[in-house]
Amino acid sequence: MITVESALETILKEIKPLDVESTGILSSLGRVLGEDIKASRPNPPWDNSAMDGYALKAEDLERASDAAPVSLNVIYDLPAGQVPKGPVKNGEAVRIMTGAPVPDGATAVVMVERTERGPGGTVLIKAAARTGENIRRAGEDFNAGETVIKSGALIRPAEVSMLATVGAPFVFVHKRPRVAVLSTGDELCDIQEVPPQGKISNSNGYALSALVAAVGAEPIWLGVARDTKESLREKLEIAMKADCIISSGGVSVGDYDFVKDVLKELGSEMIFWKVAMKPGKPLAFGVIGGKPAFGLPGNPISSMVAFEQFVKPALLKMAGRKAVFSQTFSALLTKDIKIKPGRMNFIRAELKMEEAGFEATPLDGQGSGVISTMVRANSFIIVPKDSSGFKAGETVKVQPFDPSILLREKAWY
Ligand code: AMP
Ligand code: MG
Repeated sequence: MITVESALETILKEIKPLDVESTGILSSLGRVLGEDIKASRPNPPWDNSAMDGYALKAEDLERASDAAPVSLNVIYDLPAGQVPKGPVKNGEAVRIMTGAPVPDGATAVVMVERTERGPGGTVLIKAAARTGENIRRAGEDFNAGETVIKSGALIRPAEVSMLATVGAPFVFVHKRPRVAVLSTGDELCDIQEVPPQGKISNSNGYALSALVAAVGAEPIWLGVARDTKESLREKLEIAMKADCIISSGGVSVGDYDFVKDVLKELGSEMIFWKVAMKPGKPLAFGVIGGKPAFGLPGNPISSMVAFEQFVKPALLKMAGRKAVFSQTFSALLTKDIKIKPGRMNFIRAELKMEEAGFEATPLDGQGSGVISTMVRANSFIIVPKDSSGFKAGETVKVQPFDPSILLREKAWY
């Protein structure tokens, strides 16, 4: 048996990021940037006003107060989108709007709330101003030539904002991995049918397709291969047109477990492992025609756990991501965990992110076919290979797998 760590390292060594393609900024959300984005101009492009108010010389206001306002001549109005008509001199002010360029000579903007219109085109300023007050400096965000987003970044709304700011209507993003998903097993029945005696619904095909979609890759559903080498070969030959292949079932040591043999026949540099983990021990991994192929275990939870630990980082790397490993957190264990040492255990758990810290509760029903536990869980408690468990109150390592963990039913305040 090999360890989870060395299986993951061996897999990732074989994975290369996919090529890049051009996409419009509006379709770039959720994609992975395939180029460094450099700014060709500074932001802000010029000093501009952060407030509606008056641009003036701060030195004119040294003695200004409520009781003794300073009167300045308003020389013109400056709405956003226009350019200054001339410099500001001592004794003068420009009525300026938020975002308008600060006129030459002005050293501060006083917000309109601290002023009052005076007689004959004057303004009364009732407080002193700091030099630079309410002025957003050119380049305080970034300067021309700066790299503002690095290749490999996930494009979130913030990156879309940045791309728009630097004027990038098109960007290079990594191609989304197209992942062929197939199930194996004579016992599998399509979900539209009521399973006859001896058959079960093919849940893995849908679960794995959903997992693929959840990491931003594109699942291509190839259906069910029967438990014969011919049927498997037929499906896998089609699957080789995708960027990555995932199958479930048929990787154990049963009489009908042919996945590893057929992958080998198709020219895969085959690696078949028993990984020292629970659930999810049997795992076939190979590279056929440059495409990674994962033979995941058949038990529903085993296949989902194996996906989280091995396929997800591989797909993220193919998609161009630099950060591919799931984050783990330390949490306070609320119930004892007792297990047989020898394999790394991934215990389905409910992680609560309380203000006071993280709390993890292992759930009842850890069998590798118990889907209801997976539905209630949002994370795995990771029990190291040689550990026999933990006592309530100890600190454990938890790996959340559910993005909705960031939302809660009650307001946060
Ligand atoms: P196998 O590794 O093929 O022996 O499968 C192990 C267990 O997982 C058996 O109980 C199978 O019935 C079950 N199984 C295999 N494939 C699927 C699937 N696609 N959906 C649900 N259960 C499956
Ligand atoms: Mg089977």
